[in-house]
Amino acid sequence: MAEWITLGTANAVPDEAHANTHFVLVDGDRALLVDAPCDVVPRLQQAGISPWHLTDIILTHFHPDHTAGMPMLLMDSWLQGRRTPLHLYGLDDVLTRLQQMMALYRWENWPDFFPVVFHTIPAARRAEVMTTPGWQVTASPGVHHVPAVGIRIAFANGEALVYSGDTAPTEAIAELAAGADYLFHEATGAMEGHTSAAQAGAIAARAGAKRLYLVHTATDAAGRSRLAAEARKTFGGEVVVADDLLRLTVGA
Ligand SMILES: [Zn+2]
Repeated sequence: MAEWITLGTANAVPDEAHANTHFVLVDGDRALLVDAPCDVVPRLQQAGISPWHLTDIILTHFHPDHTAGMPMLLMDSWLQGRRTPLHLYGLDDVLTRLQQMMALYRWENWPDFFPVVFHTIPAARRAEVMTTPGWQVTASPGVHHVPAVGIRIAFANGEALVYSGDTAPTEAIAELAAGADYLFHEATGAMEGHTSAAQAGAIAARAGAKRLYLVHTATDAAGRSRLAAEARKTFGGEVVVADDLLRLTVGA
């Protein structure tokens, strides 16, 4: 049994009630962060999760609203005396740019810095990312302004949770989401490299997903109030406009 928590649900512009979209999956000693848009330390603490015990981080693509929190997280973990390795997963583009960003902060000179282990996600459909006793993560490419992936977490009990990452509607993500119990799809709007709520609904229907959670959404109340109705035009299953700090028990 694991817990999936939405640490943020906003599009690129957060407000006081909605951080940029990112998540954590907590399963015993294992804690997987998905994207690090902002200073994630206080947000994790708000969710009751120790930021110093993260074991794995997946970065879906190298845009600031998905990665800008990494330097702070790495520095703060080091200042807290972390010694254990941290496993980082991303496309080659993401890992290369992250190392370039950290080089600007001269992280090679941080004494006794803990090991960061890089795992390159192949830019291919259903690429293997990581496997634990309780769940396995695969990734498929999205269609975005920069190389990007969506991820599928398949649990040992047969459940599956999918997060689209930032993407235009694409068959690769619909395929990744096939039969998913929980599909977290971005609903930034009908613009290049992104998806509207109605289009997210169509992807959920195409995938045969059971529940659709809209994320990476507008933060204003008027904009949010329209999203669920738009998605329901194209998807007959359960639609949730996700809020920050939503908690789901998964894989149970
Ligand atoms: Zn993006």
